[in-house]
Amino acid sequence: MLQINEIFPLLREPKNVVITTHQKPDGDAMGSSLGLFHFLKHLGHSVTVISPTNWADFLDWMPGTKLVLDYERQTEQADQFIDKADWIFCLDFNTLSRTKRMEEKLANATGMRVLIDHHQEPQTEKFAFGNSNTSKSSTCEMIYDFIMESGNEACINQSVADCLYAGVMTDTGSFRFPSTTASVHRMVATLKDKGLQHSHVHEALFDNYLENRFRFIGHVLLNRMEIFYEYNTALIAISQQDLIKYDIITGDTEGLVNYPLSIKGIKFAVIVIDRGEERKCSFRSKGNFDVNTFARKYFNGGGHFNAAGGQSKEPLEAVVAKFKEAMAENKDQLSNYQF
Ligand code: 5GP
Ligand code: MN
Repeated sequence: MLQINEIFPLLREPKNVVITTHQKPDGDAMGSSLGLFHFLKHLGHSVTVISPTNWADFLDWMPGTKLVLDYERQTEQADQFIDKADWIFCLDFNTLSRTKRMEEKLANATGMRVLIDHHQEPQTEKFAFGNSNTSKSSTCEMIYDFIMESGNEACINQSVADCLYAGVMTDTGSFRFPSTTASVHRMVATLKDKGLQHSHVHEALFDNYLENRFRFIGHVLLNRMEIFYEYNTALIAISQQDLIKYDIITGDTEGLVNYPLSIKGIKFAVIVIDRGEERKCSFRSKGNFDVNTFARKYFNGGGHFNAAGGQSKEPLEAVVAKFKEAMAENKDQLSNYQF
């Protein structure tokens, strides 16, 4: 994988570009994809964003979402764009398997794959150019660096600023995680100068839920959360019946895993959700417990040191039992946490 700055001179020639990201894109995935989309359009390229799957409604306010193709629903159309793409930007993921049904198409594409991502253990051999940096707060911050370092600060308009802000804000837990460096704040200051409407972005993301989602959260915290104080750990397990009863759709469970971390003493939180075709796990930690390693070892997943995910084909009860075993195996690290 060559350094990303090697493509800066090539940005001057109009190209056919596809931008893609991980399945079920979150704020950073969609924000970085659309931020780059608006930037490259501004430079005169033909650009299409393809999401491997659908996404949460709370991302629909982002300028450009109406133009994003959902690979599962618009496969043929998306394949045509991939076939003629000179460049395929892969954002906020680093292993092709995170694009689910798009994986094979991406692996066989003739266009050059360009990686911009901040997760651990990238499949660098799969990318012609790239920037993989686990110290970055978000892929949105890396898109901002890409724009600035390529000498195109003038292309940052309000659309770019709003999209990039949404991703950096969500991936840093509203600027509270340790990944929030001085550079992140400097970037936000520049985005403000370019027209960023931060209150509008915050409201669009967080104050737009339907009543059923709030009732669901109440139910989950009351009935589906187990606390293991001796391990400083909390577990939430959600069945398909729960999802159906409360009419829960993509995105409604986003952020739920963070709630138990607000309980005094809790350093490790997991949520397991029965999505039907698989059981999806999310892991979050505070301090020195490495959930990336935990997710890789026990749940076929990965991510960051303090935020990771995984999945299992086993039934919900078996996944919960496996989690409890894994937690016990890590007792020394979990129970000796210094606050
Ligand atoms: P979430 O729990 O919000 O789905 O994901 C937390 C972090 O871990 C995100 O950065 C996400 O991209 C990453 N992640 C989630 N699931 C997986 C997975 O199955 N494999 C890998 N490698 N990373 C994941
Ligand atoms: Mn991210």
